[in-house]
Amino acid sequence: CGIVGYVGARPALTIVLDGLRRLEYRGYDSAGVAVLGDGELLTEKRAGKLANLEKALGERVPAEGIGIDGGHTGIGHTRWATHGGPTDRNAHPHVSTDGRVAVIHNGIIENFAKLRAELESAGVEFASDTDTECAAHLVAAELADVDAEGFVGDGAARLAEAMRRVCRRLDGAFTLLAVDTRTPDAVVGARRNSPLVVGRGDGEHFMASDVSAFIEHTREAIELGQDQVVLITPAGVVITDFDGAPAQGKDFHIDWDA
Ligand code: GLU
Repeated sequence: CGIVGYVGARPALTIVLDGLRRLEYRGYDSAGVAVLGDGELLTEKRAGKLANLEKALGERVPAEGIGIDGGHTGIGHTRWATHGGPTDRNAHPHVSTDGRVAVIHNGIIENFAKLRAELESAGVEFASDTDTECAAHLVAAELADVDAEGFVGDGAARLAEAMRRVCRRLDGAFTLLAVDTRTPDAVVGARRNSPLVVGRGDGEHFMASDVSAFIEHTREAIELGQDQVVLITPAGVVITDFDGAPAQGKDFHIDWDA
């Protein structure tokens, strides 16, 4: 329902939570975040209001090394349940079994039942009842393939390639964001029949379902076109279509008051 992503030098958790708060008017039944710190995926998710998530975050036992509030790459989601009840386990992010990939999603993956059956017959165990979770397992599987093939490109480029391969297999409406523990400075996004905007900062970039999530940080935005994949890193924004051909979004300046 509401989606936020951040990569840059500042603590991602604060920016992502602020963004989710700004999107609250949409209505939602659960909320969650994933932050990359020290090559680890740190996630927290709760049914109910954002306050429930914040309470859970506040009660976390401080981790060794970088805690969830110390990572610089993160994604966050507020959910309006369509597949699976509004419970903690169905809240996003959904994480691949290998713990490598976290995904958040707005919309409905119409062919999820077929994809889920396929993944289950390959031995994947699902941890939720959502249509979304299959995307997390698929991104992890495609990443493993991309790595095995010796795909030319850095981790961020491989993550984007994995996302494109997944998108080509999905039917329906989706805005998807994913992070990969092996690529700590990147967030990949994709959209079909569901909105996604990028915010351009100085050494930092944002993604959201709506510009209001990042308007206090930047007014330079890019509206993604239909069937596009976007990769954000601290240094830049790379947009392609689902086949990997270079593509462009629509640049615009946000001139209304927040
Ligand atoms: N279909 C997904 C779910 O039920 C995403 C819902 C949303 O757009 O928030 O979890």
